[in-house]
Amino acid sequence: MAKVILTGDRPTGKLHIGHYVGSLRRRVEMQNSGEFDKIWIMIADAQALTDNFDNPDKVRANITEVALDYLSVGLDPKKSTIFVQSHIAELTELTFYYMNLVTLARLQRNPTVKAEIKQKNFEMSLPMGFLTYPVSQTADITAFMADTVPVGEDQLPMLEQAREIVRSFNGLYGETLVEPKAVLPSNKSCLRLPGTDGMAKMSKSLGNCIYLSDSADEIKRKVMGMFTDPNHLRVSDPGDTKNNPTFIYLDAFAKDEHFAAYAPEYANLEEMKAHYERGGLGDMKVKKLLNAVMQETLEPIRTRREEIAKDIPAVWDMLYEGSEEAKARAAATLDAVKKAMRIDYFADRK
Ligand code: ATP
Ligand code: MG
Repeated sequence: MAKVILTGDRPTGKLHIGHYVGSLRRRVEMQNSGEFDKIWIMIADAQALTDNFDNPDKVRANITEVALDYLSVGLDPKKSTIFVQSHIAELTELTFYYMNLVTLARLQRNPTVKAEIKQKNFEMSLPMGFLTYPVSQTADITAFMADTVPVGEDQLPMLEQAREIVRSFNGLYGETLVEPKAVLPSNKSCLRLPGTDGMAKMSKSLGNCIYLSDSADEIKRKVMGMFTDPNHLRVSDPGDTKNNPTFIYLDAFAKDEHFAAYAPEYANLEEMKAHYERGGLGDMKVKKLLNAVMQETLEPIRTRREEIAKDIPAVWDMLYEGSEEAKARAAATLDAVKKAMRIDYFADRK
């Protein structure tokens, strides 16, 4: 069986370091490994509209931003096809047929969707499109016959939903669709990077992000203002490193070389953590190291982004080409789906 990746992001804001460690970094590694037959990267604008339908201009503007973020971290259109979801009407058609294979109760049980409904105050006025976005996500994944979906932890319920729909479809209409599996980051701190405010998830919608495109000054300001351990009042107090986002970010980003360069009194992060836990290490020192690590990591990404942003029309040309290719692939899957469902009445007249 072909090894195919599908993954993507909602154009609801610029991409941040949570996306980077949760998914982007892995995608670039997978892309460059040469182990995959095909890599599809989708900018999920139709999904973004399910909770931003009143602000299509925001979604539109962020398609460009997300595309720039992709190219700046090393996604390469020669190796990965980058496309825009709404260009592919076939995805909507697949969604319509898959809707029959899911119950309302099942959709309401999805823990990620539940949390997002609460976060967006949708309890009293839930758009149907939002509730059903996991079904449309199944269409996105299956349209490309993807077996591998590199994502952050919050996407696990979506993958479970997709697998259920695929099994149900294949059981009813015959083996047609591929059951996808999620690939999570191996580092625990990267599964769901917390926000700079200590909230459970760094999220574009919560404004607690360090963006890949942030200037050196913005990065510094955000790192220095980060939430730490609220009980670590004096330098001499013992501190907690487990629920402390500064240490979680160091877990996600710091390498031993960083210690040699910026905090040579420690051989590695474990030594620094031990010092903080027993007391005697101030937050300021931790933040200074974190700032140095973040600056070193993000500087090349930001520089590449500024270079690519000089030619935005070229970015849209790339998106158009990718979207046309994706459309052709999804159309082939839709044909197979309609054939399996025995609703391909006019297939021989094409
Ligand atoms: P929104 O608030 O609009 O939903 P988001 O920040 O959650 O935005 P998405 O576009 O929904 O971003 O997610 C894109 C990918 O990034 C998904 O695979 C998701 O799991 C991953 N991701 C998002 N936030 C984080 C995070 N804080 N840590 C790790 N992975 C993340
Ligand atoms: Mg999200």
